[in-house]
Amino acid sequence: MPVNTNQYHSIISQLNPQKVQLIAVSKTKPNEDIIELYNLGQRAFGENYVQELVDKAASLPKDIQWHFIGHLQSNKVKYIAPFVHLIHGVDSEKLLQEINKQAIKQKRIIDCLLQVHIATEETKFGFDANSIDEFIQSGRLAQYPNIQIKGLMGMASFSEDTNLLTKEFTTLKQIFDQAAIQLGNQFTILSMGMSGDYTLAISLGSNMVRIGSLLFGARNYSK
Ligand SMILES: *Cc1c(COP(=O)(O)O)cnc(C)c1O
Repeated sequence: MPVNTNQYHSIISQLNPQKVQLIAVSKTKPNEDIIELYNLGQRAFGENYVQELVDKAASLPKDIQWHFIGHLQSNKVKYIAPFVHLIHGVDSEKLLQEINKQAIKQKRIIDCLLQVHIATEETKFGFDANSIDEFIQSGRLAQYPNIQIKGLMGMASFSEDTNLLTKEFTTLKQIFDQAAIQLGNQFTILSMGMSGDYTLAISLGSNMVRIGSLLFGARNYSK
């Protein structure tokens, strides 16, 4: 399936006036597809699998900003620590510890988003609303000087129920606003919204959307 460049232009013209950043989610898609959007000016790409990201980063242009948006296992942080631009799915303190450790080794500050569990489904990762509040209030983030927490990320339920999605996105925005009081100037990114729900997410306060299938077509995991 070819890259939908018309869709790309239309999404960009929708997002730019609202100052919302597009992360083009290229997981499972070939390098040629990424280059096609790169040639149209896209620089931020999102990937879910460490090995795939490492391989793509090695062979694609160096000015691509790679966003890791999947579930990250602690033992794999070291592979992406040298180059990753933003890690969206930070969902435990154990993972923060490991990212901090690898960031020190790389002499980098690694930007991260804390993932908040907002969906009704049990399978989605993330801090719940109470634990994230407790964690931020505790001041323990100061123990990780090589991590910059830039904001929050969340995934809504896999559902077409607009009321449910509205409720979930609104909850995340409230948690974001609350945390921003504590975390200050650097805390600016609210990553919420995907192909099916990004317009709603933006209307409820998102400023970073992660869009895959609308741009690249449906994914085929069987290959
Ligand atoms: C795959 C994925 C996306 C993109 O999903 P689409 O529905 O294809 O836009 C966004 N965010 C995360 C965390 C993902 O895993």
